[in-house]
Amino acid sequence: MLPAQVMQQAQQEFLNWQNTGCSVMEMSHRSKEFIALAEKAEADLRELMHIPDNYKVLFCHGGGRGQFSAVPLNLLAAGSKADYIVSGSWSKAAAQEAANYGEVNTINVVEEVNGVKQVKDSRDWPLTSDAAYVHYCPNETVDGIEMFDIPETGGVPLIADMSSTILSREIDVSQFAMIYAGAQKNIGPSGLTIVIIEQSLLGQARKETPCIMNYQLIADNDSMYNTPPTYAWYLAGLVFQWLKEQGGVSAIQHNNQQKAELLYQYVDRSDFYRNGIISNNRSLMNIPFWLMDESLDSKFLSAAKEQGLVALKGHRSVGGMRASIYNAMPLEGVQTLVDFMKAFEQENS
Ligand code: PMP
Repeated sequence: MLPAQVMQQAQQEFLNWQNTGCSVMEMSHRSKEFIALAEKAEADLRELMHIPDNYKVLFCHGGGRGQFSAVPLNLLAAGSKADYIVSGSWSKAAAQEAANYGEVNTINVVEEVNGVKQVKDSRDWPLTSDAAYVHYCPNETVDGIEMFDIPETGGVPLIADMSSTILSREIDVSQFAMIYAGAQKNIGPSGLTIVIIEQSLLGQARKETPCIMNYQLIADNDSMYNTPPTYAWYLAGLVFQWLKEQGGVSAIQHNNQQKAELLYQYVDRSDFYRNGIISNNRSLMNIPFWLMDESLDSKFLSAAKEQGLVALKGHRSVGGMRASIYNAMPLEGVQTLVDFMKAFEQENS
């Protein structure tokens, strides 16, 4: 969900943005009004994430998967190789896409001990010392596996797919060569992708890189080489303002921890549901859980829907349920889910 306050503001301004007589959607991206709005959004994101000055922030098209291609095209020179850490389905997909462009060393880091999944200690990962970069996904949206410690790469540039991590908790940007994120979780609607990249990495794109994926070109043109997703950029700006009003990332992190704890605690206490992930790799944003008796899954989903609890079906690749509790989800929303789960457990055990 997006913050209700943001949706209401967008609704009010929909036809007439700040007395311009038109919608942001209708405005030229070259107009001074839009450029001011775009710059403000970038400045707010820089403030929220404490992005150092030697990093460029790019507002791109193409979603997370667009970056699965853009990263190797820009940063994996012909003849070099990259390490791809696989901790779930999105990092696996990123590795598969990169392998179309160059040599990829895939390192699986999830192990199952007594039926519980955990990420192996990053000091034991067999990294390649001369890799062009190490790519990983700190929060696996489908699998609900999160890594809170930043892997030690021995000086090799670290690239993170933060599609479902960005703005959920504090991140030390300076530890990363590049961070990217599709907007549609904690930033705004789909259609916008944020790239935060150390300037020294620009200018290495392969000749065949499509211009709309070329980081140097995008940076040189302030993300307006082609027409950017203007309305999504505007909504992202409203979300950044909202987040600042909430007290910024540290405050939202505190809320997110409370929300996640509420749900995990209940799942752990119950014999009716299970999560199956070790506590220090449990996602703050996406909480998968399974009913012990999976024949009750469809009954659970339809009863939940009757209570207004929707989008709980787990990803088709893993089954079960998944509660995605992004920044805009209030604690009361999670409490409502837990109350429903308790009642369903009582009625069905
Ligand atoms: N990476 C992660 C971590 C994701 O969660 C997703 C989408 N849920 C993607 C990549 C793919 O994003 P998109 O659909 O924007 O290409």
